[in-house]
Amino acid sequence: MLVSATEMLKKAKAGHYAVGQFNINNLEWTKAILQTAQECNSPVILGVSEGAGKYMTGYKTVVGMVNGMLEELNITVPVALHLDHGSYEGCLKCVEAGFSSIMFDGSHYPIEENVAKTKELVKIVAEHGMSLEAEVGSIGGEEDGVIGAGECADPKECKMIADLGVDFLAAGIGNIHGKYPANWKGLSFETLAAVQELTGELPLVLHGGTGIPADQIKKAIDLGVSKINVNTECQLAFADATRKYIEAGKDLEGKGFDPRKLLAPGAEAIKATVKEKMELFGSVNKA
Ligand SMILES: [Zn+2]
Repeated sequence: MLVSATEMLKKAKAGHYAVGQFNINNLEWTKAILQTAQECNSPVILGVSEGAGKYMTGYKTVVGMVNGMLEELNITVPVALHLDHGSYEGCLKCVEAGFSSIMFDGSHYPIEENVAKTKELVKIVAEHGMSLEAEVGSIGGEEDGVIGAGECADPKECKMIADLGVDFLAAGIGNIHGKYPANWKGLSFETLAAVQELTGELPLVLHGGTGIPADQIKKAIDLGVSKINVNTECQLAFADATRKYIEAGKDLEGKGFDPRKLLAPGAEAIKATVKEKMELFGSVNKA
């Protein structure tokens, strides 16, 4: 059964480790992540962007697939199904469809509007026993070929949003989505420490976990990060393994064209990536 992410992240914050959010795109992705979480005895958060939700034909399909897998694969570790960077309307749809957690990304609104909309969702989410992630300070990333620097959140704005009763908070600390540019300045631990001081026990979320050096990840966890989002890294690992399979001509040997064979190396690569991250984040055997 799906659970909200509140308990697992409270435990992570108290235990000084982080739970990984791994984004899903299809059946292979979901299966690989769930199997790895079970093998590692680790809690896990399955992230679904609005685009990926649409790709999988809608949120109800996603909920049906994930719930089916939890049962058929005998998954016993805590699993949350979480909307990633949701719009207000997207959040309402996921509440209705049976997600167990949502992120409302109001970071592009003026802070007053972010506060007002987040406040509404705190109420709705509580009625459904779900968890809510809010965002302050937008997270950089590639858009139309231009790589934007990650913003640093205003700690006072973080406190305003935290006080509304959200369950965990994504604060921009110079992190960005996708691959990091060569001239990236690194995470702003100064911002992170200032946010953590004002928000206390509230678990903090680090987006854009792909390519942040391990020592910076460890330091971020020490400073209160309890959830780390990983998306691009699984995509790169999947693409790389699939390319190798094709380039080696394996799809032309025997029944190598069978999708269950063709997609297997990519799925194994996702599993290896997820395992490596769970070890780095310290969530192994924390289920
Ligand atoms: Zn993100």
